[in-house]
Amino acid sequence: MPMFCAVYNCSNRSTREKEKSFFRIPKVVVHKGEKCRKLTEQRRKKWISNLRLRSGGAESVYSRVCSDHFVRGVPSALGDVESVDWADGQARLRNN
Ligand SMILES: [Zn+2]
Repeated sequence: MPMFCAVYNCSNRSTREKEKSFFRIPKVVVHKGEKCRKLTEQRRKKWISNLRLRSGGAESVYSRVCSDHFVRGVPSALGDVESVDWADGQARLRNN
């Protein structure tokens, strides 16, 4: 199953753009305590609001966000909330 970038206006896919990375929309983690649940919930919301996802985007198990939408090409670690790439480049997010 090829992976597609779920961002509106982005047509990158894993079969054609082989040099790019594709990342899942972060899930809410519920079994590692309240702090972790809140943080992951916040992160997921932020990804969804920062990105203009195609309809059904975040819900599909095949949804990915390609490395074009991160300033450094990869999302940062969950605990690294100050990073520009914690939620896909935030203000610097590129939609096309
Ligand atoms: Zn993309």
